[in-house]
Amino acid sequence: MKKYKIIENREDGRCLECGAVLSGRPDKKYCCSSCKNHHNNRKRDLAIKFQGKTMTLLWRNHQILEFFLRKRVTHAKMEDLEMMGFSREVVTAHRQGCNGHKEFSCFDIAYYQTPRKIFNIHRNGEPSPLVKSSSVPRDKP
Ligand SMILES: [Zn+2]
Repeated sequence: MKKYKIIENREDGRCLECGAVLSGRPDKKYCCSSCKNHHNNRKRDLAIKFQGKTMTLLWRNHQILEFFLRKRVTHAKMEDLEMMGFSREVVTAHRQGCNGHKEFSCFDIAYYQTPRKIFNIHRNGEPSPLVKSSSVPRDKP
């Protein structure tokens, strides 16, 4: 994932937004309020964009995991998952599961993960609002 760079220090004594030479207080970061607003708006926009990309990856992972649950398949090779668009680096939670396995979650769906596969794909708790309740298979009657 691409990383965005926001320059936060002004050791060179220049405005963080336009690069103009600053004068006045030593902790001054911007040459004017317009530059301050532009800089902060840009930071906010980058954060929103980053969050949106992360949510897109999580949503795609959830769709893939949901596909396996519907097929009642509990494991998958990492190479197959990645071909489907699965991103192993985004999760909503993780913990040390039983038997020493690392358990990861994507909202309401959890699984154990090794470098080569995921297994024990299962639903934890109530289905996520990301899926229509009518399309969710129940684990046990
Ligand atoms: Zn400026």
